Amino acid sequence: MFNYQITANSLANKIILVTGAGDGIGRQAALTYAELGATVILLGKTTAKLESVYDEIIAQGSTEPAIIPLDLKGATKQHYIDMTATIVNQFGKLDGALLNASILGELTPYTQIHQQIWQDVMQVNVTAQHLMAQALIPALLLSDNASLVFTTSGVGNSGKAYWGAYSVSKFATEGLMQVIADEYENTSLRVNAINPGATRTNMRNTAYPAEHENDSAKPVDIMPAYVYLMTSDSLAVNGQRVNAQKAK
Ligand code: NDP
Repeated sequence: MFNYQITANSLANKIILVTGAGDGIGRQAALTYAELGATVILLGKTTAKLESVYDEIIAQGSTEPAIIPLDLKGATKQHYIDMTATIVNQFGKLDGALLNASILGELTPYTQIHQQIWQDVMQVNVTAQHLMAQALIPALLLSDNASLVFTTSGVGNSGKAYWGAYSVSKFATEGLMQVIADEYENTSLRVNAINPGATRTNMRNTAYPAEHENDSAKPVDIMPAYVYLMTSDSLAVNGQRVNAQKAK
């Protein structure tokens, strides 16, 4: 596992957006960031799931979060611009954004990839990430030091049979991360991508339905890397692919 000691209150006074915050890894990241003192902005598709994470954050005694219900499949550039304006109005800046939401599409032989699924995966996993990053960067630059974190995968730098559109979308995510990281080098914004590794969530269950639950990490197990990238301990880290389940 990524070797980082989480310290209490290490995210105090930070405003952090988490996408896909209603379930899986995003839900755990939102709970953990809030527990460490951040005010989290929960973005996701299913409002009821976001409300339940909101309740959990209140129940653990953390600062009240904000909720942004948004379906990345249908959202336009204007949605991201409006969303960012709301964040800046309410909080004055953004210190971190964990772009975690994505979809698996389908695992299928390459010649049988459905056109619509290809387009949906590219829309949610690539175009939406790009439009959101474009809109969020001015808000992130209002912070003294900001962290933009994309989410990649084991198939994001090494292609794998049957992983089709998802694998290609994660290569694109890493490309996007590298382009932005290079452009903002020597600024207050750092940009990286995290590879969670095999983690027990709905997505993992869909991809590996027969896998025993003990063969993948729990979302809480991989939080050290997620916290590290948001704290000032990672200030010098830019343009990197960070593996949450490998030793630093
Ligand atoms: P889950 O499927 O468990 O959760 C995905 C989250 O993204 C959900 O909260 C979901 O919201 C949200 N989401 C999906 N589609 C949209 C959309 N159109 N608009 C807004 N939100 C959306 O996935 P994981 O937690 O497993 O994955 C998190 C990230 O980690 C992903 O980027 C994934 O590719 C990556 N990853 C995961 C691995 C694993 O083993 N779990 C391994 C490698 C990478 P809702 O529930 O409302 O649909």
